[in-house]
Amino acid sequence: MSKPILKLALEKTYPEFNINLELTIDNGEFFSLLGPSGCGKTTLLRLIAGLEKPDRGTIILNGRDITKLSPDKRRIGLVFQNYALFPHLNVYENIEYGLKLGKYSPVERNHKIEEMLNLFQLDNLAKRAILQLSGGEQQRVALARALAVEPEILLLDEPFSALDYEIRSSLREELIQLQQDIGFTTIFVTHQQEEALSISNRIGLMRQGRVIQVGKPAEVYQNPVNIFTAMFLGDATLIPCRLAGAKSEGQLFILENGQKMELVSREYYEEDLQWLMIRPEDIRLDAENPQFEGEIVRIEYFGPLYRLEADTGRFNFKLIAGKEAGAFNKGTRIGFSFDPGMVRVLDQ
Ligand code: ATP
Repeated sequence: MSKPILKLALEKTYPEFNINLELTIDNGEFFSLLGPSGCGKTTLLRLIAGLEKPDRGTIILNGRDITKLSPDKRRIGLVFQNYALFPHLNVYENIEYGLKLGKYSPVERNHKIEEMLNLFQLDNLAKRAILQLSGGEQQRVALARALAVEPEILLLDEPFSALDYEIRSSLREELIQLQQDIGFTTIFVTHQQEEALSISNRIGLMRQGRVIQVGKPAEVYQNPVNIFTAMFLGDATLIPCRLAGAKSEGQLFILENGQKMELVSREYYEEDLQWLMIRPEDIRLDAENPQFEGEIVRIEYFGPLYRLEADTGRFNFKLIAGKEAGAFNKGTRIGFSFDPGMVRVLDQ
C-alpha cells in the first residue's frame, strides 16, 4: 500500500452550488475524477491548488497543512484545457516562468529547462513563439512548465480535450510513462469514461459536489454502488425487481416481468424496489436454452464486435456479440442468457 500524499476534507458553498467531500490520494498514483458537467471537478482542483478558499476543512499535502498557503507556496502543478501559456514569451521562457518564482539559481534553472525540453521533445522549439505552436505542442509546453518546478502533485483539468484523437493518445502515453519515470502524483479531470478506466490507478466519481464512489477502475465498473455510477461508467441493462425472499444459498428476486432470479447478494429488505444491473459483455447469445428472448431494436457495428439492443417486451437488454451478429437485422428475434454471478443489485 502506498502512503497517502493528499488528504482533503472540504466544504465550499456558492449561491447555487455546494461542494462537500473527503478524499485521500496516494503517493504516486494516477487518480481520475469523473462526473457530469457542473458536478464540481474544476472547483475541487481550484481548491486544492489554492485558487479558491474552502469555507471549512483542511488540505493536507505530505503531512503539511496547506489550507491557508498561497498557490505558489503549495508545490502543486496545474494544467488546464486551454494551456494558459504566456503568448508574449517563447517556449523556453514559458517553462522558465515558474522556476523564476522559486529559489533556483540561473544555472539550475537552465539545467531544469533543458531537461524539460528534452523530456517533452521540445528541444527544437525552445525559441519558438507560443502562437506558432500546434495544440499538442502547446500542451507539451504547459506540462513541461508545470513539472519543471517539481510539484508534489500535478493537477490536470481536461488537458487533452482540445486535441485530436491521435495526439491525445500519444500525449497521454507520454504522461503515464513520465509519471512512472519521475514518480509524481496526478489528479486528472476528464469527461471521458473510457480514458479514465484505461489509464487510472483509481477513479473518483463525483455528483453534485459529492464523491459518490472511489475505487480501482475494474472495481468501480463491475461493482458500482448505485445506478448513477453504473450508468456513468458504461452501458448496462437495468431491470427493476423486488426481493421475494431469502434462501439458504442466496436471495430470490422477482423481476418486473414475473421471472424469478436467485442471486447471492448482500441483505435487502423485502418489497424494496431494487435494480439488477448487467453489463453488455456479460450477456451471451443463447439460441438453445435462453433465459430471455427479445427483438433487436438497435444494432451497431464497431470494428471487432456488434452492440445490440433487444426488446423483451418489458425491458430492453444491451449486449455485445461477435461475428455471428453479422446475420442479424432490426427485428431479428434472439435468445440470450447470462451467469447470475455477473448480475449486481443496485440501490436507486
Ligand atoms: P465541467 O465538467 O462542465 O467543467 P465541473 O464538474 O468542472 O464542470 P465546476 O466548474 O467545478 O464543474 O462547477 C461546479 C458548479 O459550481 C457549477 O454549478 C458552477 O456554476 C459553480 N461555480 C463554480 N465557480 C463558481 C463561482 N466562482 N461562483 C459561483 N458559482 C460557481
